[in-house]
Amino acid sequence: MISSGDTQTSKNILTKDYISKAIQKLKDFAYDELYVLVDFVYESEECSFGADINDPVSPELIGDIEIGNDLALEEQYYALIHELGHAFLYANKVEPKDVVLLETLAWCEGLKITTNLGLQVNERKFREQMMHALLLYDAEAKKKVYGFFVDDRQN
Ligand SMILES: [Zn+2]
Repeated sequence: MISSGDTQTSKNILTKDYISKAIQKLKDFAYDELYVLVDFVYESEECSFGADINDPVSPELIGDIEIGNDLALEEQYYALIHELGHAFLYANKVEPKDVVLLETLAWCEGLKITTNLGLQVNERKFREQMMHALLLYDAEAKKKVYGFFVDDRQN
């Protein structure tokens, strides 16, 4: 019998150990391939990608990603995937102007990078976190255009 070094169960539940290693791999990828620094911010749930940092120690850096440490570990993992997508789109100058399109593409590009690195996600949880974020941006965008939240019941 081959001993299962696999960290997955049949239900695709990722262990904390797996996620920690996956996060480290993404962090290394961000630094080595995109010249983006990943920081984990204590007592925060905010996650962001910021472009054009001027770091005198590492002038080659094009931006940084901040991930709030207060999020659950798996949420940090998926947030990092998303912010990596932003960094990729920025680095390749292929960012759509529409904020909802930009956000959607960032999730998809990030997931592609993650998959290409041989890393796994729990697809259902990833999708739920993605849709939650996208719907917030969508509501925000509609609010800006119409000045109010569009009510779905009115078709
Ligand atoms: Zn985003």
